[in-house]
Amino acid sequence: MRARAAAAAAPEREARTAMLTYAIGDVHGRTDLLARLLDRVNQALAVACIGLVLAYRSSSNLAAAYGIAVSGTMTITTVLYYEVMRIRWNWPIWKAGTDALDALPPLLGVPVGLKDLVNLEGTPTTAGSRILEGYVSPYDATIAARLKQAGAVIVGKTNMDEFAMGSSTEFSAYKKTVNPWDLERIPGGSSGGSSAAVAAYHVPLAIGTDTGGSIRQPASLTGIVGLKPMYGRVSRYGIVAFASSLDQVGPFARTVADLADVLGAIAGHDERDSTSYPAEVPNYLAEIETRKGPWKLGIPKEYFGAGLDPEVAAAVERAVAFYRSQGCEVSEVSLPHTQYCLDTYYIIATAEASSNLARYDGIRFGRRVVDPADIDDLYMRTRAEGFGAEVKRRIILGTYVLSSGYYDAYYLRAQKVRTLIREDFLKVYQDVDALITPTSPVPAFKLGEKSDPLAMYLCDIYTIGVNLAGLPAISVPSAS
Ligand code: GLN
Repeated sequence: MRARAAAAAAPEREARTAMLTYAIGDVHGRTDLLARLLDRVNQALAVACIGLVLAYRSSSNLAAAYGIAVSGTMTITTVLYYEVMRIRWNWPIWKAGTDALDALPPLLGVPVGLKDLVNLEGTPTTAGSRILEGYVSPYDATIAARLKQAGAVIVGKTNMDEFAMGSSTEFSAYKKTVNPWDLERIPGGSSGGSSAAVAAYHVPLAIGTDTGGSIRQPASLTGIVGLKPMYGRVSRYGIVAFASSLDQVGPFARTVADLADVLGAIAGHDERDSTSYPAEVPNYLAEIETRKGPWKLGIPKEYFGAGLDPEVAAAVERAVAFYRSQGCEVSEVSLPHTQYCLDTYYIIATAEASSNLARYDGIRFGRRVVDPADIDDLYMRTRAEGFGAEVKRRIILGTYVLSSGYYDAYYLRAQKVRTLIREDFLKVYQDVDALITPTSPVPAFKLGEKSDPLAMYLCDIYTIGVNLAGLPAISVPSAS
């Protein structure tokens, strides 16, 4: 979904309201940049082939054959002769050309932006926090290394909510990022820098992380596509952790085909991440072509209740009508534990965050207060000055739900409910190929509009279920 004022601002793009679907190939073709790159290679190959054919024609028997052909007395013999010669002489050239193309790294020369929680050797990594100010990554995250290997050009780091906690990128300790479609509105969060950079045509691809919606929601609010892969599909090694059992790295792009390209390059088992999924990576680009449906789609009724903005609901309805017109069978389904998703998420995510963030103590990474009175003073003042209000709120909440006496009542119970939520999805997926839901309950809101933390937490209502269940999900634009 995008800001309301966007249609007038960019007539070449359809007005969009994103929804959450899984495995629906919505192919718009490649980005201009990739297309141009490939066109150039193809043109060069074509010129080389024509040159060789011309050279051959002028110096051999084929010239005679051509002479007959062009003089209007083309006979079958001539055609066959020409075909044999063409195959004999040109085929190896074309073959060599296509082999060379196949051998090119898949993202050769493509600029990519990285959310500023991905370690990239020799560059500052702040995770949007003052506490990491001055920290320079001594190594590449697996995702950064794989992008480089795939030929991508990493052009910069993108802004984010501090430690990926937020839905608007207003909680970055450094800068606020705005929505390129309407500068008074937020670009979503926490990966809002990545979504804004892609939507503003600064880069065709960017990387984000999604713990409870931080790829899909900003993709939705800026009118681009964003993918949260299955948990474990993309390595988390070298990513600043928020909530380890929910975090997943994924791409932003302007087309689904580009998402498929980049996912193919970054996915795959990594022995340095113990939760990495040890399976072969499919050829996603090819699968988009071969698995076009029609799909059996489910609409979870719990996702269309109170709190859903009518503009968003209408856009999703239009998308459903579109899929129906493409022959998809659409039926209503139920995910009965949806009402517990938000509570469950905010217990598990804060618990894991409080544990992960314990490492920022002023000793090992980044910022340290000057002239501490003693070690306790060093820890306390570094953390008090280094963390922002939202991060502190979550550390306090997480420490509370993990503390003895409350562990069983909150954390353990939340884990049990999480299992029920996952089972809801698994049951429904026995009958349908994909689910359609809104991504965000509301269109892009204005900066400063949501000052109440709970109002901000409600932005995740439709995205956090799949994180709790470990499932993949994509947000694609859906309105005009
Ligand atoms: N907005 C959610 C939160 O603040 C999700 C963030 C995320 O996915 N990183 O926790």
